[in-house]
Amino acid sequence: MADARVSGIGMTSARTRERLILRLREQGIRDPNVLDRIRNVPRHLFVDEAIASRAYEDTALPIGFGQTISQPYVVARMTEALLGPLGNLHNVLEIGTGCGYQTSVLAPLVGRVSTIERIKPLLDRAKLRLKELGIKNVRFRHADGSAGWKAHAPYDGIVVAAAPHAVPQALLEQLSPNGGRLILPVGPEGAQELVRITRRDDHFIRDKLGAVSFVPLVGGTG
Ligand code: SAH
Repeated sequence: MADARVSGIGMTSARTRERLILRLREQGIRDPNVLDRIRNVPRHLFVDEAIASRAYEDTALPIGFGQTISQPYVVARMTEALLGPLGNLHNVLEIGTGCGYQTSVLAPLVGRVSTIERIKPLLDRAKLRLKELGIKNVRFRHADGSAGWKAHAPYDGIVVAAAPHAVPQALLEQLSPNGGRLILPVGPEGAQELVRITRRDDHFIRDKLGAVSFVPLVGGTG
């Protein structure tokens, strides 16, 4: 892919991106690796050209099929919470690939990402984007992510980009018993909370990370 397209110009340039990084820092994002990824992933390539000039605003934007690309702050916050202070995750499951933006932020920071999306055209587009960006440690699946992906479990980390009403049991079961972490929004529209669940053997420790607003986790495939 031509470099200028990735590095951006005007409203997608390095200067515009730096303003976003400043804003995320002000809001408490600290992990330098996460900030570096937000700086370097060309978010403007994940949205329609007509709204590319808004790609480095800290807002969710439409990606078609009634879905949105997550707000950069939320992606940063979830990635930071997932990685934890040590940041040495080998095997990560992501549910709700969407356009693949969060996948692109996360993948180079961990060993491998398995990602699941229920809307096929979104998954196909995400695959293409990641290929263009040279990201190779991701396997994709078109399925209902509430069942997880048993074949590759246990996971050191699981991150969910859509909100179920209650934590899916399958995801708890697929967490590594040795400190595996699940980051997900839980609750009905308008009353969702971001939660981190850490597994130690058969104990699940739950921390609340604040109010959020995600699209609902929907059963079945589209
Ligand atoms: N991670 C994306 C955000 C995607 S929005 C980003 O970086 O911008 C949430 C995505 O979750 C949508 O694409 C939606 O189709 C998907 N989704 C909702 N329910 C799902 C389910 N049960 N299994 C898999 N994906 C699901």
